[in-house]
Amino acid sequence: MIKSVELCRTVFKSGEYPPPLEREIAFAGRSNVGKSSLLNSLFGRKLAHTSSTPGKTRSINFYTVNGSVYFVDLPGYGYAKASIKEKEKWERLIIDYFDSRKSLSLLAVLMDSRHPFQAVDRQMLEWVIYYSLPYLVVLTKADKLSRSQQSITLKSVKDGLSECGALPPVFMVSAEKRQGIEELVNTLL
Ligand code: GDP
Repeated sequence: MIKSVELCRTVFKSGEYPPPLEREIAFAGRSNVGKSSLLNSLFGRKLAHTSSTPGKTRSINFYTVNGSVYFVDLPGYGYAKASIKEKEKWERLIIDYFDSRKSLSLLAVLMDSRHPFQAVDRQMLEWVIYYSLPYLVVLTKADKLSRSQQSITLKSVKDGLSECGALPPVFMVSAEKRQGIEELVNTLL
């Protein structure tokens, strides 16, 4: 259960990271995947800012949860209109984070349940394998699918992931309807 949460630090470049806590859980996902909405839904408060606009300076936000765990909001990726330079900047920020934070205990990879495995999602999954990161997958906006579409998607995503090796836990959530949120919190904490 999340009893307290506060924004600890906003990081724009390497070297600005806060000292590690007991655990660190990072959240990654394509821009517009519903990451801020999910975080706010987990927090039970509107702390994370929804949909930042292309071109806006990207940052990594560290939230302290229950005084002992960081929830780390990684910058969204895959803006359709992003320039190569912007993409490189985003990539540098993420890679530096993975290189630097040995304290990272779990990565939550968010994908839109309506269209998982976009090119940028695959890029993230490649990094997960490269860095041998413990991870789980969160399929967002479940309310946009019927119950039967949800089970079909869940199965096909699990099949898709099993092709990449070890099968991570996969969650189907809706921030809007609070579907799967408690279950996810219980797994994370
Ligand atoms: P971010 O860019 O990944 O942080 O995505 P946001 O949280 O800002 O959400 C992007 C858009 O998707 C917004 O218009 C949200 O209202 C919408 N959205 C986010 N989560 C859900 C959800 O669970 N269900 C539905 N239907 N829409 C959602």
